[in-house]
Amino acid sequence: MLRHLSTLYRCLLLLSLTWAGASHAKSPNILFIFADDHTIQAIGAYESWLQDFAQAHDLTPNLDRLAEQGAIFDNSFCGNSICGPSRATILTGKHSNANGFYGNNAELKPKDGFDGSQWTFPKELQKAGYNTGVFGKWHLGSEPTGFDEWKVIPGQGSYYNPDFRTPDGMIQVQGHSTQAITNLSIEFLKKQSDDSPFLLMCQFKAPHRTWMPDTDQFDYLRDAVIPKPDTLYDIYETRSSPLWHQEMEIGRHMQYEHDLKINPPLVTYDIQNPHYKRLTPEQRKAFDAFYGPRNRSFEAANLTGLELLEFKYEEYIKDYLRCIKEIDDQVGRLLAALDESGMADDTLVIYSADQGFYLGEHGWFDKRWMYEESLRMPLIARWPGKIKPGSKPEALVQNIDYAPTFMEVAGLKSPKNLHGESMVSILKGKTPSNWRESIYYRYYEYPGPHMVARHRGVRDDRYKLMHFYVTDEWELFDLEEDPQEINNVYENSDYQGIVKRLKKTLAQHEKTYDVPNKDPF
Ligand code: CA
Repeated sequence: MLRHLSTLYRCLLLLSLTWAGASHAKSPNILFIFADDHTIQAIGAYESWLQDFAQAHDLTPNLDRLAEQGAIFDNSFCGNSICGPSRATILTGKHSNANGFYGNNAELKPKDGFDGSQWTFPKELQKAGYNTGVFGKWHLGSEPTGFDEWKVIPGQGSYYNPDFRTPDGMIQVQGHSTQAITNLSIEFLKKQSDDSPFLLMCQFKAPHRTWMPDTDQFDYLRDAVIPKPDTLYDIYETRSSPLWHQEMEIGRHMQYEHDLKINPPLVTYDIQNPHYKRLTPEQRKAFDAFYGPRNRSFEAANLTGLELLEFKYEEYIKDYLRCIKEIDDQVGRLLAALDESGMADDTLVIYSADQGFYLGEHGWFDKRWMYEESLRMPLIARWPGKIKPGSKPEALVQNIDYAPTFMEVAGLKSPKNLHGESMVSILKGKTPSNWRESIYYRYYEYPGPHMVARHRGVRDDRYKLMHFYVTDEWELFDLEEDPQEINNVYENSDYQGIVKRLKKTLAQHEKTYDVPNKDPF
């Protein structure tokens, strides 16, 4: 009997030691903060024509600090610069052709939205014992799969007092959407403990069009003089015919009512705007008090030509940056909550956005093109003890790489058919010798909003080759000589060797990723 008891005791002791050991070896937590349309020019830590302004106006102190504490990637890109497709790629580690979500238009995606039955990294992490939660913008149509908790805005959702789809039906959360999404994320964070790791995906709606700031941010940049990008008045010389046919110019295509919050000749704001309709009486008062006088002076000024373009540009940039300021404030709150939880040292924090955006470059707003501003994705990562503070990795990484990265962080093995590669060794300061030397891009959504032609392309650390394949027009840019991409050198005899090499690389990528030559729609 005694011997049995002692055996039992030894077993219990062993078991408790195993448990203690297991809790020590717990996988790291992942806090993945993902904004919508946040471009690198609007982050103080990123080098760009807007950087001095951003720093002088304290645009993103919390994101800049995150970058100082970890790594900031200069060569981070998407594979298809638009909301839904980038999100589907993040979840699956595969380009659009393999995950089935080519575009936001109905014919470019599965009838019922993203096919959530396919492999995704949140499902794998959940199976491995992670507590998983997603809050905010989803934009994939179907219900999230692989999450213990989810509260996502329907479609593009609302900027103010937004509704959220949940497994138990729709709920409304008060406040600006950036605050509401942060509140839900902090609620989830507060429920976490050292017992099991968590994956928290906090996905802001802002700064997506129509750039509606929180009423508390109206004073921000009120009297600031906004600098202009060199290419604001671009007339697209040397480039392809699709640039003449797009519909995303600030001058010609930005809407007064929704984008600029102007409804001439009424001078008051358009109450048909779905975001405006959701404001509380108090918020509406603040909104009218801010935009009303501005609209009256706009009407009195009777601007035309370049003056009108510059007015639109400045008002657009101010509202966009006000949305960014709110994001940064809320990221600060979220990171403070993580510190308070005591789990920050064991948490990989990633900040990114689904694609970049034009802040007037080439005269544009919106995204979609393979040109730098919309191709690049911000990527900032902090992982105490793993990432050296102040790191600036140069490797060419892409949104296909997030899923395999999160898998490796969780100690899991990715399936072989993913298109991306884990960035963990890059985060730790060592780029694998066989890391990719170029990235692949393909955009499909045409005809569609903004009328950006279908194109495909490849970019390495210096050159970018683009092919508008419907009209069979090519562009080549030497990014070292021409970082603004205004001089297409595809026909230039000095570059024919590069053209030949990159065409071969493009074909190789399409073979590797199994991209059909002919679009399936
Ligand atoms: Ca987006």
